[in-house]
Amino acid sequence: MAGLSLDHVSVRYDDLLAVDDVSLDLAPGRVLAVLGPSGCGKSTLLRAVAGLEPVSRGTIAWDGRDLGGVPTHKRGFALMFQDGQLFAHLTVGGNIGYSLRLRRVGAIERRRRVDELLELVGLTGYADRLPATLSGGERQRVALARALAVQPRLLLLDEPLSALDATLRTRLALDLRQILNVSGTTALLVTHDHEEAFAVADEMAVMRAGRVVQSGDLSTVWRAP
Ligand code: ADP
Ligand code: ADP
Repeated sequence: MAGLSLDHVSVRYDDLLAVDDVSLDLAPGRVLAVLGPSGCGKSTLLRAVAGLEPVSRGTIAWDGRDLGGVPTHKRGFALMFQDGQLFAHLTVGGNIGYSLRLRRVGAIERRRRVDELLELVGLTGYADRLPATLSGGERQRVALARALAVQPRLLLLDEPLSALDATLRTRLALDLRQILNVSGTTALLVTHDHEEAFAVADEMAVMRAGRVVQSGDLSTVWRAP
């Protein structure tokens, strides 16, 4: 199948089965939220998809091709964390353009792409600012733009809004949904925040103690009485 497929995936840390027999599909252009309490295995699952954690059983595939043995940087995925971890010594433009520079995209094209991304995340005119001068919400917008700069075939978001206060979180969740839709980005989001999952995603998988206990399309399963 096209997109991401997890087939009976388990990840074990010694005696602990952090991810226990999880099967999930995510089609291109869709956004899936994995929702569950702290410690249920969400980050481990995301890290396994990114290739940062070895899978002890099952397979993770993209477009039907097993990613087992494919290193992180060859998967074509981008990651964004709770604390966007911007490069403090680089400007906003420098942060967003960083991976384009590594790919030897020329200065003029880089600047064009950086401007386009700034507009996408609602930060037009911010290119010359330093991260220290930004609010928490602005920093996460920059982190998002930086992740999208490489046009990843899958964006992995680990609690992207959890460090923000409640009001800002609600606003940014709606903006995030819009940005992912407009850019046609396929995304896997993990969060413990019910509202965030509902605001951002098309589909949801609920995780408890390493297992997916319920999953489905938000518009059908989750709105049903
Ligand atoms: P979540 O993201 O849902 O909070 P995690 O995936 O971080 O959950 O953790 C799932 C379980 O695996 C927890 O019990 C956690 O303590 C454990 N765990 C996470 N990372 C490691 C590790 N590197 N070594 C051993 N245990 C780990
Ligand atoms: P350099 O231009 O040497 O790459 P800079 O730190 O000035 O170093 O810029 C880093 C990145 O940010 C580049 O990708 C550049 O294209 C982009 N950039 C810098 N300033 C701006 C700006 N005012 N508007 C849009 N993009 C910018």
